[in-house]
Amino acid sequence: MQVTDNKVVAIDYTLKDDDGQVLDTSDGREPLYYLHGAQNIIPGLENALTGKSSGDTLQVTIPPEEGYGPRSDEMQQTVPRSELPGEVEVGMRFHASGGHGGDTVVTVVEVTDEEVTLDTNHPLAGATLHFDVTVREVRDASQEELDHGHVHGPGGHEH
Ligand code: ZN
Repeated sequence: MQVTDNKVVAIDYTLKDDDGQVLDTSDGREPLYYLHGAQNIIPGLENALTGKSSGDTLQVTIPPEEGYGPRSDEMQQTVPRSELPGEVEVGMRFHASGGHGGDTVVTVVEVTDEEVTLDTNHPLAGATLHFDVTVREVRDASQEELDHGHVHGPGGHEH
């Protein structure tokens, strides 16, 4: 079965940066399950997987525009230190709820006695991404999965 819109696809992947450093991998974990055509994954990877079949391996290089977007200096904001709980150090990352019900990762870039500067760019914004991918499984999505726009069951949403 080929990867087309509305298929559930399971992939094993390793993500590296320009220096060959491993940033993320499914090695040692369950494969990543996603619903093709539903923007569950970054556009560059979704496009590269279209038409592939179970067992196929591919190497993909994805520019920031098709990955996590360019890095923007405007996505920094300064908040009073009192708004953040506990100890705060440069380089710390934490999750903040985004405007669209999604989750954003913010990174602390500067700390003074009074204020904390947060960078709300995705940690991989501006990065060229190098993926090694193996397609493990391709199956039809259920109607419920299509309605929800994500995968259910093992490797997906449990609800
Ligand atoms: Zn659901």
